[in-house]
Amino acid sequence: MTFRTRFAPSPTGPLHLGHAYSALLAYDMAQAAGGTFLLRIEDIDQSRARDTWEQQIYDDLQWLGVDWPTPVMRQSDRLPAYDAALDTLWARGLLYPCTCTRADIKQALSAPQEGVAMGPDGIVYPGTCRSAAERSGPRPAEAVLRLDMRAALAELGDEPLSFSETGKMDAGSPVPITETDLTHGVGDIVLARRDMGTSYHLSVVVDDAAQQITHVVRGEDLFDATKIHVPLQRLLDLPTPVYHHHRLIRDETGKRLAKRDDARAIALYRAEGRTPDEVRAMTSL
Ligand code: GLU
Ligand code: ZN
Repeated sequence: MTFRTRFAPSPTGPLHLGHAYSALLAYDMAQAAGGTFLLRIEDIDQSRARDTWEQQIYDDLQWLGVDWPTPVMRQSDRLPAYDAALDTLWARGLLYPCTCTRADIKQALSAPQEGVAMGPDGIVYPGTCRSAAERSGPRPAEAVLRLDMRAALAELGDEPLSFSETGKMDAGSPVPITETDLTHGVGDIVLARRDMGTSYHLSVVVDDAAQQITHVVRGEDLFDATKIHVPLQRLLDLPTPVYHHHRLIRDETGKRLAKRDDARAIALYRAEGRTPDEVRAMTSL
């Protein structure tokens, strides 16, 4: 198996040290394995994506000494592929439209018998629309579509779900994903957002397969999201790559860097006259 990995930033702000670490680690791993490093622009959130941020991603990565084959995959060009994936799930009765507002969800969860569980996607959906929602006929456009996790599990049958982890969370054996993880810890996640016609989870799974990614290198903050990605791969008949979740770069106070930490933007280090090697050293690579 030739090693193929990717770096998949969203062009919604400047790349900072945490992104540099992720990109350089993936790039170095690909080089060491004689494999391929790909870049993918995750711009499905068109309300936040900007061309200038995308250009800066290219500039920063080039400056860091990373290169990649072109053309670069951009998720905004991939809507037909996401539609096709949603169509197959809809046709199998695994999706349902949800009209709940955030307030509706909070209210449903305030009922005494319900507990609030937090999953990789935030609050685990209480299932309000699951039984009432219409699932026949054409797939509704511009609707929020949720995955019926119980129906999905029934379709997947007894086959155990797991993935290989070589990064920080490596426990020496495949990481199991249990039915309880999925019904209680994940729940009926949104696969199509009204404004986007897709979601991060659906797009990432469809695109990792389209780019024939064998190894996903990304931050440990996405470790739990992998518990969503693996069952989606099974449902869509897509291969499961090996996962390498790496440590996060933190600031002096131990807080992980976020987009708003512009003080650690790669562009600023460049402007200050730092070298790519110095930036590498800051990430302790
Ligand atoms: N686009 C995601 C981010 O900016 C990364 C997704 C992934 O690597 O799976 O955090
Ligand atoms: Zn709902």
